[in-house]
Order: sequence, then structure tokens, then C-alpha cells
Amino acid sequence: MAIWDDITKKAAALGEKAVKQAKDLSEVAKLKLQIAEAEKTAEDTYSQLGRLYAAAHADDYEEGFASLMAAAVNAEQTIKTLRNQLNDAKGVAVCEKCGAEVAKDAAFCSACGAEMPKPAPVEAEVVTEEAPVEEAPAEEAPTVEEETPAETVE
Ligand SMILES: [Zn+2]
Repeated sequence: MAIWDDITKKAAALGEKAVKQAKDLSEVAKLKLQIAEAEKTAEDTYSQLGRLYAAAHADDYEEGFASLMAAAVNAEQTIKTLRNQLNDAKGVAVCEKCGAEVAKDAAFCSACGAEMPKPAPVEAEVVTEEAPVEEAPAEEAPTVEEETPAETVE
């Protein structure tokens, strides 16, 4: 039957087309992956370049780098502050020697045995909230002093 021959031919043609499309698609996917890898390499390289420049010219960078240098320094400072807050929230201190997280009040690192520094400077700012409490007893002092000069005048 001519109709069946036709259908068979069309099916074969469709199959070939599908195979070609699959090849094209895998080629496209492969190229996209290679582009993504090259872009990542470029980003990493520029990042390293920036870090090298920042380290080499921390004190003598050119004017055009000023805002980026300030932003980088700010970001580093923010990371440091947030890490300290995170350690505080977790109740841990990080060993400077091996990087292990150790109980905040531990005298020695449980991982490497290094002596842990005494915690304190991080919580220093919280003390300011207690300042108003000290004003209450201070008000009583002047009332006592007011009576004494009055007596000495007479
Ligand atoms: Zn350690």
C-alpha cells in the first residue's frame, strides 16, 4: 500500500530529524557548559586580581579604586562583626590556631589543645545599657549637700 510506504518514510524522516536535533541540543548544551566554565574562570581570576591589588596597595591605591577599596574594607569588617555575633549566639569561640569551635569559656581548644584567649571585648558595648541605673542613687546626694551650706551660713 502506497499510504503505508509514505507513513513509514515520514516516520523515518522524523526519526532522522529528531536525532539531528538531539545532536544539535547536546552540542548547544556542551557549548553552554564550556561558556559557563570560562565565565567562572574569568570571575575567579578578576576576584584574585582584585584581592592582589587590594593587598599590594592598601595604603597607596589610585583614586579610581577608592570606593571599591572602602566597600571591600567595610564588607570585611561586617563579616568579622557578624562572625563574632554568630559565635556569641552559638556560645562558642573559634580557635585561632586550628579554627575549631570550642565552648566559649574553655581555657584550651578541645581539638588541638592550644590555649584559648579570654573572651571579653565583644560584650563591652552591651554595658552602656546599664548606665541609666546609676543615675538614681546620684540624685540623693545633692539633697543632703543642700542642707549643709544652709546651716553654715547661720
Ligand atoms: Zn585548636
